[in-house]
Amino acid sequence: MKLAANANRKEEEEQAWRLYGRKHLKLTNQNSVGFLKEAKKQDCSRNKITKNIKMKAVPRTPMRVPKTPRAAPAHTHPEKRRDVSNKQQDPVNVFCRVRPLQSEGDLTCMRVKNTTTIALNSQDQLLHPKQNGAQREIQYIFKHVFQPDSNQQEVFAAVAQPLVENLVRGRNSLLFTYGVTGSGKTYTMTGNARHRGIMPRCLDLLFRTISDYQAKKFVFKPDRLNGFEILSEEDALLERQQEMNQRFAGAGRFGFRRKDSDPEIASQASVEPTPLSVLDEDNMYSVFITYVEMYNNSVYDLLEDTGVQKSLQCKIIREDANHQMFVHGVTEVEVKTVEEALEVFQMGQKRKRMGNTILNAESSRSHSVFNIRLVQAPTDCQGEHVVQDKHTITVSQLSLVDLAGSERSSRTKNTGVRLREAGNINNSLMTLRTCLEYLRENQQLAGNVAAKKIPYRDSKITHMFKNYFDGEGQVSMIVCVNPRIEDYDENMQVMKFAEMTQEVQIARATPMKPDLGLTPGRRKANKLFKIAVNNLNELGIPEAKQLEVDVGLVYSLGPDFPNYHMDSPETECKIQELMQYLEQRIEKRRKLRANMDIKCDNFRQLLMNLDRDNLQLRTELASLKAVYKQERERSAALENKVRIHESSIDVLNNTVSKRERQIQELTQKLSEQDYLLTQKEQEKEKQKKKFNSKLAVESDKNKREFDMKLREQRAKMQERMRIKDEKLRLVSNILQSEDVPSLPRSQSSENLLNDKERGGGGGFTARTESSAPATTRTDIYCTPRHGLAAANNRHRRSRSAGDKWLEHRAANPVPLGTIMQPYLKNRKSVTKLTDMKELTGHGANKYCLVSQEADTDGDVETKLYKGNVIPTCGGGAQVVFDDVECLKQKSPVHSPPRKRPSNGNLSASAFGGPLPTSTTGLTSVQDVASRCNLGIEGHSSKKSKM
Ligand code: ADP
Ligand code: MG
Repeated sequence: MKLAANANRKEEEEQAWRLYGRKHLKLTNQNSVGFLKEAKKQDCSRNKITKNIKMKAVPRTPMRVPKTPRAAPAHTHPEKRRDVSNKQQDPVNVFCRVRPLQSEGDLTCMRVKNTTTIALNSQDQLLHPKQNGAQREIQYIFKHVFQPDSNQQEVFAAVAQPLVENLVRGRNSLLFTYGVTGSGKTYTMTGNARHRGIMPRCLDLLFRTISDYQAKKFVFKPDRLNGFEILSEEDALLERQQEMNQRFAGAGRFGFRRKDSDPEIASQASVEPTPLSVLDEDNMYSVFITYVEMYNNSVYDLLEDTGVQKSLQCKIIREDANHQMFVHGVTEVEVKTVEEALEVFQMGQKRKRMGNTILNAESSRSHSVFNIRLVQAPTDCQGEHVVQDKHTITVSQLSLVDLAGSERSSRTKNTGVRLREAGNINNSLMTLRTCLEYLRENQQLAGNVAAKKIPYRDSKITHMFKNYFDGEGQVSMIVCVNPRIEDYDENMQVMKFAEMTQEVQIARATPMKPDLGLTPGRRKANKLFKIAVNNLNELGIPEAKQLEVDVGLVYSLGPDFPNYHMDSPETECKIQELMQYLEQRIEKRRKLRANMDIKCDNFRQLLMNLDRDNLQLRTELASLKAVYKQERERSAALENKVRIHESSIDVLNNTVSKRERQIQELTQKLSEQDYLLTQKEQEKEKQKKKFNSKLAVESDKNKREFDMKLREQRAKMQERMRIKDEKLRLVSNILQSEDVPSLPRSQSSENLLNDKERGGGGGFTARTESSAPATTRTDIYCTPRHGLAAANNRHRRSRSAGDKWLEHRAANPVPLGTIMQPYLKNRKSVTKLTDMKELTGHGANKYCLVSQEADTDGDVETKLYKGNVIPTCGGGAQVVFDDVECLKQKSPVHSPPRKRPSNGNLSASAFGGPLPTSTTGLTSVQDVASRCNLGIEGHSSKKSKM
């Protein structure tokens, strides 16, 4: 198996070598597929370069020698062709089979000279072989020429076995039989019950090769587009069940009978060929069969389920994604055994016969194509199932074509419909001939000569196999000849065609098997493992069945494992070893399982505990949730309240701010008002000052006027007084002479005296007052009321002989100018008292501070602060004030009018009766005058009376 795989790889590497040279051969297994793909791409471009390679035309000679494989021909044909020119090419393998003569006495025109050469003799030659001028026999050389007595096995082994190998390797092959009717085409291709033809033998070999490696039915499913898809094990099983149901119901199209039920089929399948060794054991295989008939240039599906309708439907030929031609909608039947395949074939044959009967056709005039399709895909790493990837599928097919008889219509003496059929048959064979001829010519063309268009589409059969001629694969042809002399001409034609055909080159197929990097031999390992398991099961260890397939275990038995053949004693030995391992494993598993059971119990217990805890926690959680819910509701209510309060706070805040704003406004207004008020007051003050100054001016004016008037009045009064004095003198004279009523003399004389003393000088008022309570207050006015100055005790004190005075006065005192001066005997005056000795050194015991001030009315007030100087024990002295004398000098003009009550009172007290309301001195003078007048008049009248 490994050898086969190696061979494959070698081939691929060879191809790569051709395309890329040595350096690329270092490629690893894994990327060889990718590399080949790349090589193919390069191949396309290289194809253009190799157009110039010339092929020499081989001259036709009677001795036909098959051409050796040549270099790629040039292709300048406009028709779309796959780039195969650089691939290794093989010529069409042409075999020749001569059937035995029907009867012993028949003449033969063919003579097989050796295994590759056949000679064709005309009747003349046969009858007159020694005649001069007679045509020489024509020899044809083919790949192999089978003797008339060659059996089917020989033919199969030489012709078809390599094609089956191709099939298994994943390459496409085409085999067709060509020859006139009755030449043994069908015999060769199909054979009969006793002499099985190529087809059953191919099937037999194929199934024997893949028998143990077949996939289960329906794992691969046709996708109706010439491809396949992979179904999962489950889907495949479902499909199988459905099929089985249909089979039981009798509705199945292919109710495969049990093996050996049909003796004919059984006999065909009975020979046991040696299985091929090219199989990839790690792949899974499935065989599908299609069977179509081409009749009158129409394609019929012989396996189609026609149902009630008996006639077959025409099919069309299409090209799939891989440029493979296929009959669209053709029935592909999956077969698992040779018997099934043959049964399908027989069914197709029946259909064919039936169709021919309906169409009044003859089977020899139709081409039948029996396709064996092999689908393979790699198994997974355990070698158990197919890898579920449709891209890993490789499909190969072996097309077995039994062509219609190649005889000309004239020979068959057909008329009418038959003629047309024959025409059609010949037409399609003619097209095949033309195509191959053109193909050969194109392949032999010189560089720049335009290639001919190959008319594949002119006939269904050529259209169907276009991809072989135009693409890649292996094409083989068996030329069947009936050597009887009557068929000489036909045979000649056949030989010519066959000879021409083997000059056509077909590109060798290079299957693209994906390398998934899986271990080779895994499938076999899987099988061994299963055998060992089965054995153990049979030995009474049922646990073996539960073991999972372990491919690695099988590999561990030895590195040379994959090379063993399944039936070899080494394999047996390995199986035994494997069984031992498995037994050990089972034992270990038992122990482990017991251990696991204990652990499981423990775990279960743990789980139960956990579950209980969980339940408890759940109930707790539920109650907590309820509490939580309540709390949440409560908190929600509280939050609500808070919100309400907050909103009310907001409202209040708003109100407060509003009020504050109002207060601010009011404060502002108030300050404005205050400001206005202050301004008004200031204005008032100003006005008051103004008014006062005006008033002062006015009063000054008035005073002056009044003084003037007073002076005038006084002058007048003095005049009048003089007169009155005169009168009074007269009166006194009278009185002295006469007894007149006495008057308070002292008073009047004093008044008079005072008046005289005052004279015309301005009167002044000197008042000396004492603050001491013991001293009496004496006001001295130059008025008639005060005649003598009051006695002052202080004067007495100042006169004491022992007093020594220290007068403290201003440097420039205002002269008092009064008659009353303070009497300070033995005094010393100082202006500054800075030294203590001033006070003590002089020996003064009395101290007098003289201060002079002007008051608001402009009068000067002189104050004498008197005190005793008392020596202190420290050698200093202190003054203790005990008396203040105040002397106020008043200007007679400026002195303000005196208040009436005091004057009134004084007057009243002086005169002892009510006084007139006038407040001026003038009034009192007038009063005195009037009263004097009254006295004088009284005295005069008294005197007159007398
Ligand atoms: P074709 O299909 O070419 O028309 P058949 O295969 O039907 O011819 O052959 C016609 C007859 O010849 C059949 O009865 C067949 O058994 C017989 N025959 C053909 N070739 C051989 C052969 N090589 N050996 C024995 N019998 C043969
Ligand atoms: Mg036939």
